[in-house]
Formats: sequence, structure tokens, C-alpha cells
Amino acid sequence: MDHFEYRDGDLFAENVDISEIAAQVGTPFYCYSSATLRRHYAVLADALAQAGLPDTLICYSVKANSNIGVVATLAAQGAGADIVSQGELIRAMKAGIPAEKIVFSGVGKTAPEMRAALHAGIAQFNVESLSEIDMLASVAQDIGATARIALRVNPDIDAGTHEKISTGKAENKFGIAWEDAEAAYAHAAALDGIEANGIDIHIGSQITDLAPFRAAFEKTAELLDRLRANGHNITRLDLGGGLGVPYENNNETPPDPVAYAQMIEQILGDKGCQIILEPGRLIAANAGVLVTSVIRSKRGQAKNFMIVDAAMTELLRPTLYGAYHHIAPVIETTTSDQTIDWDVVGPVCESGDFLGLSRPLPDMPSGALLAVFSVGAYGAVLGSSYNTRPAAPEVLVDGERFEIVRQRPDYEAMLDGETVPDWLS
Ligand SMILES: *Cc1c(COP(=O)(O)O)cnc(C)c1O
Repeated sequence: MDHFEYRDGDLFAENVDISEIAAQVGTPFYCYSSATLRRHYAVLADALAQAGLPDTLICYSVKANSNIGVVATLAAQGAGADIVSQGELIRAMKAGIPAEKIVFSGVGKTAPEMRAALHAGIAQFNVESLSEIDMLASVAQDIGATARIALRVNPDIDAGTHEKISTGKAENKFGIAWEDAEAAYAHAAALDGIEANGIDIHIGSQITDLAPFRAAFEKTAELLDRLRANGHNITRLDLGGGLGVPYENNNETPPDPVAYAQMIEQILGDKGCQIILEPGRLIAANAGVLVTSVIRSKRGQAKNFMIVDAAMTELLRPTLYGAYHHIAPVIETTTSDQTIDWDVVGPVCESGDFLGLSRPLPDMPSGALLAVFSVGAYGAVLGSSYNTRPAAPEVLVDGERFEIVRQRPDYEAMLDGETVPDWLS
């Protein structure tokens, strides 16, 4: 459920009229709802509590939407953070997430990133290879710190999701092969500066069925028992993120967080471990819309194009993953308005630059506003300035109020740091 709804034919974010924001901020812009972010966090937290899991930590996956206003909203609810870079570490801490609630994922952590995270005192490194364990051990020894780690093991499970967001198959770059896990823990246990007391999995994103989760959790339970039998003191299970959300105008029914939490309790509840989750999309996706204006429409021989001022530079998912995002006018049209099918496209010079294909919409005049839904996760963060397009501002709504939590840069700022080399001037 989200807090975007039409009131008297005008789309609101909570109690703020989106047309009002557009008038003040200009388009395109992202609009996030605080109440929706809080609600999604609370639904998951309540589900875990209801299932009777006593020791849990929800580490919001910062990469889904890393705006510090968004992260701070979740920090205030008690969220931890799952980060994948030093930049995200800085964001998470700036947003008020305490280091002891931060876990650090990713296959390519560098030594300086490890050092920064050790200095900050984060809760856990999710380590994905033997060479990474060795590097982390040496950095930790160097500064006299101990790195608490979980080994990310790859359960070789097909999450049944798009190939580009599937991570838990043997052929994916992520994690340590299941067969190598016991040897990897033995290796880690022998190293100074390393405390290997967690198991980590993350099998993919936008998973719409509980079955792959069940299979992965059952494998995790078996591995836990084997590792304990081998003498390892495993106290934390990080089950990753990946819960899917409805995109197709609410026609999809992804897993219910309550059923998900109950399943975790059934399979892993009696193991005496802290359960860590890393949801990104579940929290943020339906908490954001992208608001764009029609530049002009163009009727062609084969297709009709509605050219808008947002593009693949603001929302890459349609062209990257073939993702569907619902698109609707901000001022609701009436049933008497005739619709035809439009490809809703941006101004970027790429045929792949589209937000939606064959969408039934009325012919809308220049300046009319459209909302692209479910862009709160993997929207702004995947943005680029291709074609020298300024990053679209991000607006956070809370009840009656709103604030621009990332400004649109002016062209001067965009070119800052670029130079004509000395030998030409
Ligand atoms: C991306 C990612 C997540 C979040 O995935 P969602 O599908 O957004 O929930 C969690 N953990 C890791 C390691 C990730 O890479």
C-alpha cells in the first residue's frame, strides 16, 4: 500500500498536491512519501515480531534509494543499513544510522573501504571470497581491529527472476560456492583479525514467490548445523533482501511479509541466531513516483510517441530489464477522453530511451503532467547525466509538508571539475 492517491481528480502524495510541487520545483522530479517508507518498514518489522523472532535487524539496502533524506526517514524508524561501498557508508552514517547496525556487502570491497568501515565499527562484513577474507584480515591486523564477518554463500537457487537481478545461481559472480563453504569457514577461523560468526545469502531481487526463499533458507539451516558441528560459533544469519513488489498497477501479488516472516521462523527460528534482513525494493519501490511533463506528442506511421521530459537518465529499469512501470496523468482524465496507444519516450538520443510502451493515454498537450509509479527503488540511484541532463531533484513529502532533498544542479555545477587542458588554453 502506498500514499499516492487521486483527490478530486488530482494526484496527491500524502496531503500534498503533486501539481503544486511541480509548479514550484519544475519537472522532471522524483517524489517520495515518508508515510509509505515508514509503513513498508513497519509492515516487515511487525511481521518479524508477530512471527515470534526475538532478535532481528532490518538493514535497509541503501543502494535501492540512497538519498540521505530517505535513509534518515528509515533510520528514525530504527532501521540499520546494508551498504555496498564507502560512499554508502558515508551516506548511511550521515543519515543517522549507527555503525553497529551497518552491514557491508559487495564482491569488490577495496582495502581503503575495509579500513574506513573497520574504523567506523560496523556490525558485519559480508565476505564473498577467500581472497577478500585474506585482504580483510590483513587490513584488520594492520589497525588492530577485529572484523566480524559473515560468509556470503551461494545456494545455487534459481530465484525465478530476471537474469540481471538474479544473484544466487552458481554461474553468478556473487558469493562462495556452496561446496566450498566449510573450507572457507575453516580458513577464516584460522586468521587473526577475523571473527567468522555469520552466514549470509542473497539470492536475487524482485522475487515474487516464497519457494526459492524456502529452498535457500533450508539449505542455510543445514549449513548452519554442519558449521556448528565443525566447531564454528555461528550467531548471525543474514538472509539478504529480494522480496518483490507489485509493479503492474497492483495486478501482481508478491509474497506477503507475514508469510515470509513465518517461514523464516519455522525454518530458522530455533537456531538461536540473530536474523538480519536486507530489504531494498520492498521498502522503497512503491514509496516514489517520477513526475514528468509532456514536451510534445508525435503521431507516426507505425507508432505514436509521447515525448516527455524524463528519460532513461531518470528511470533506466524499462530499457535495462524490460521493467514495467505504470504511467498515468497527474490530473485524472475522464472516461470520455479518447485514448490511443503511445510509446512514452524521453528526449535522450537512444532508441532504448523509453519509460513505457503502447500505453493507452489520451493525447496530452505540452506541459501536461504524467506520473510514473513505483520508482522509489532503483530509480534515482541508477540515474545518469547522459546527454548532459541535470539530475532530477528528489522531493520528500511528509504529511502536509515537502522538502527538496536533492536539488537539481545548474549547468555550472554540472561542469564543475571538468577542464579544457592547459595545452589548449
Ligand atoms: C541489492 C541487494 C539487496 C536489496 O535487494 P532488494 O531486491 O532491493 O530487496 C540486499 N542485499 C544485497 C547483498 C544486495 O546486493
